[in-house]
Amino acid sequence: LSFNSARFLVSAPRLEDCPPDTGAEVAFAGRSNAGKSSALNAITAIGKLARTSKTPGRTRLINFFSLNREHTRLVDLPGYGYAKVSRDMKDDWQKHLGHYLNDRRCLRGLVLVMDIRHPLTDFDQMMVEWCEHNKLPLMILATKADKLKFGQAKNSMLDITRRLEAFTCVKHLIMFSSTSKRGVDECRAALINWLEG
Ligand code: GDP
Repeated sequence: LSFNSARFLVSAPRLEDCPPDTGAEVAFAGRSNAGKSSALNAITAIGKLARTSKTPGRTRLINFFSLNREHTRLVDLPGYGYAKVSRDMKDDWQKHLGHYLNDRRCLRGLVLVMDIRHPLTDFDQMMVEWCEHNKLPLMILATKADKLKFGQAKNSMLDITRRLEAFTCVKHLIMFSSTSKRGVDECRAALINWLEG
């Protein structure tokens, strides 16, 4: 399995528009602006694979990318937490994402992308608890590590580790940077393990 040949497959506005629920996929979630699109680009080594468009309408879609193995996909879930979205849109978003997370049988794991400077927001906590409850393996990318001095980044990792101690769903916690590519190889290895396993 290689990530270099990843290609855009389809955008699904609703669950019915998702590709057939067969094979294996890993989904990426994160607060809007956490660095999810950049992380996906770094992992797949294809610039602009995950569009970094900030238009709510577009980023609300679930985007599917196919890898070089049949029925093997990476999934870009809509970013959470636009400052300006209305209550209705938030409800809509939750319903939409909830459907995907609850109904998708080929989902092998979730990658939660968080800014290492602002880890474990309420949304992140909610996702961790959801994974724990549903026994879904979770990988955490603490990204933008290049924005901190190494000692500070280490401290943040320790803090995250401590706060997640009780959660058995957390299989990988990776210090990450899309800019320096730190953590990319480790993340790819874990993804291959999940998708091929
Ligand atoms: P998304 O909304 O989660 O998809 O976030 P983006 O990937 O679009 O990134 C949000 C902003 O953070 C952009 O300005 C990126 O250039 C920046 N960014 C993302 N990842 C990194 C990183 O690892 N290091 C640095 N320095 N900036 C990053």
